[in-house]
Amino acid sequence: MFNLILFIIESEFQLEMGKITKWYGDKVVGKPSKGCEFCALGAKLVLFITGECSTNCFYCPISKERRLDVQFADEQLISNVEEAIHEAKQISALGVGITGGEPTLKLDRIIRYILSFKREFGEDFHCHLYTSNALSKDALQKLHQAGLDEIRFHPPLLILGKNMKESIQNAKDLDWDVGIEIPVIPNNEETLEEIITFASKVRLDFINLNEFEFTETNFHFLRERGFSVKDRSSAAVKGSETFALETLKKFRKSAVPLHYCSSSYKDKVQLRNRFIRRAKNYAKPFDEITEEGLIVRARINVKNSQSIPSIVQALKEDHNIDDQLIEVKKEDKTISTHWKYAEKLGKSLSRKFTKDIVSIEIIHQYPYDGGFITYLNPIIHNKNQDSEIG
Ligand code: SF4
Repeated sequence: MFNLILFIIESEFQLEMGKITKWYGDKVVGKPSKGCEFCALGAKLVLFITGECSTNCFYCPISKERRLDVQFADEQLISNVEEAIHEAKQISALGVGITGGEPTLKLDRIIRYILSFKREFGEDFHCHLYTSNALSKDALQKLHQAGLDEIRFHPPLLILGKNMKESIQNAKDLDWDVGIEIPVIPNNEETLEEIITFASKVRLDFINLNEFEFTETNFHFLRERGFSVKDRSSAAVKGSETFALETLKKFRKSAVPLHYCSSSYKDKVQLRNRFIRRAKNYAKPFDEITEEGLIVRARINVKNSQSIPSIVQALKEDHNIDDQLIEVKKEDKTISTHWKYAEKLGKSLSRKFTKDIVSIEIIHQYPYDGGFITYLNPIIHNKNQDSEIG
């Protein structure tokens, strides 16, 4: 919390309109939204409330598996609000960003979630919502009454039609923060200029300009239109960042704060900070946490779960490993412990349990059950056992 206060104080003093400022590795003109401040700390739960959407943007980043009525809290598939609250606690969340698909296709669901979050974590739990819909006055009122703190409009295909303009203006009449969030598509000067001019005229609270990105789903559509990647290590579209920074420069004197959100910032700041928060709650006594918020452990993969009790006994008796430093996952046929034991176990344990142990490895893993493994150091790998599996 101390860091948050310090950060907010810094923001107040340094982030002026008319001037491009570096902010958490990104570039801003004026003060970013409250929702962005919490995102930067990794303190926002990302709630994907439905994958359904009736719009068909060629650049849509949503994966095929998510284009259904499914819900995710961060990376976890969920089915109810209790599971979302559990995930919020896992990252010590200070707020939630509600996204989709088109979230407002499930308006009642959004309202139920917001009310539950506020009840569980208090009124200060910051809720923001993305929408591509030109919402009616009634829908806006309902969201506002539920306690939504910030609403971000995404005009589909960046077309700011009459209904969308009206809806944004109606949103502005309510006491919450209203902004626009769009991808920065290179060579789209006129459209971007129209959006910023409108936002400035109606005194929106912010515009978020996202670096345009390739995903598995939009890859072909973007290539067809002649876009290419910025460099080999990035999914960002070439030219998007340059165009975004030129836009910041050109419109720095406008009345609306601008925030350029780069794809590297999303990974290196938002995701990293969220992982660090989660890892602190998720890590077992034997896990180490990396600077990126990944957990490091030794993992013993066994051929079948019947051998687990005798291997665990050997860990305790032959290697003096404390009970607390051992975790068994029978369903995954794994035993985990501190990584520092891996080398030693590789030599002795594999000899004693030749027929039972498939491999011993040191892994770096996203901080949740079954999390993505970013690094794997195989200490031993018994190929004969491996081939017998399944
Ligand atoms: S509005 Fe959003 S979710 Fe819907 S198609 Fe466009 S980018 Fe995808």
